Amino acid sequence: MPSVADARRFALDRFAQSAALKSHNRSLLLLDADVLLQHFLHKPRAWLFAHDTTDISDIWQLFCAAVEQRCTGLPIAYLTGTQEFWGLPFHVTPDVLIPKPDTELLVERSLTIIREKAAAATAPISILDPCTGSGCVIISILHSLEQAGIKNVYCTATDISPAALTIARTNAQNILSPEAQERLCIREGDMRTLPALQTRFDLIAANPPYVPSALTQELLQDGRSEPVLALDGGSDGLDFIRILTNNTPMVLHDCGVLLSEVGEYHAQDASRLFETAGFSAVRIHQDWTNRDRLIEGVLHS
Ligand code: GLN
Repeated sequence: MPSVADARRFALDRFAQSAALKSHNRSLLLLDADVLLQHFLHKPRAWLFAHDTTDISDIWQLFCAAVEQRCTGLPIAYLTGTQEFWGLPFHVTPDVLIPKPDTELLVERSLTIIREKAAAATAPISILDPCTGSGCVIISILHSLEQAGIKNVYCTATDISPAALTIARTNAQNILSPEAQERLCIREGDMRTLPALQTRFDLIAANPPYVPSALTQELLQDGRSEPVLALDGGSDGLDFIRILTNNTPMVLHDCGVLLSEVGEYHAQDASRLFETAGFSAVRIHQDWTNRDRLIEGVLHS
């Protein structure tokens, strides 16, 4: 009869033999084992500490299979199907990027801009998230606006991947109230044909693929299985920043704002692309680890 203690021992043994996990220290690996146990047992971590000898035969096979998958480098979020972002539980699969804490900066800055605009505006405010993936950015924004009682904001979320849109829709249903869901339109769309949307926005909040191709290949070697489509931004990582800066002036209102997450390694180049495309007040914001992560530009027509 396998117990909680057996499960933790088994996972640590297997993880220690995994090439993909060799840089992870023991406490991180134990945390991985516990998160998997919590997921299958539906118990908090404290319960595990108090139930060392409890029989877990019911979930043993599932747990062992998940441990083996983790040994290939597959992230815990894909194994449990959930990642917390902005304090909210987002469903994830390998069809979408796992939401990262760095991207909370995009949500935070978007909310500041929207609050300022909402205080001054009489007409409703419109926001576009042109590469929504799991929907984590736009859904977090809408969730916070709803909590603050700001309702005159309408959002469009697009993605080129139909599989990602399915995940985004699930997250909108799970996280947003029916009323907030009505203010969010999720549909297939390609940043390259943005002008075809034939509508204008006050804010475009984007997390486009921006990792240089060579670095994308290097990152994926650890078995993370995140979608190449969502990461690879071409040889210098700036392909989609070029597309955004060139295409968004046609779909932004006067004084509209473009925000784009970027890599710390090309933030200066990205900010020059904003300026060349006619954006003013171009600023680079730093993430919680002090790395250049977000470019902001305002469009005056
Ligand atoms: N560093 C980001 C991530 O791993 C890259 C995301 C992107 O290309 N947009 O999620």
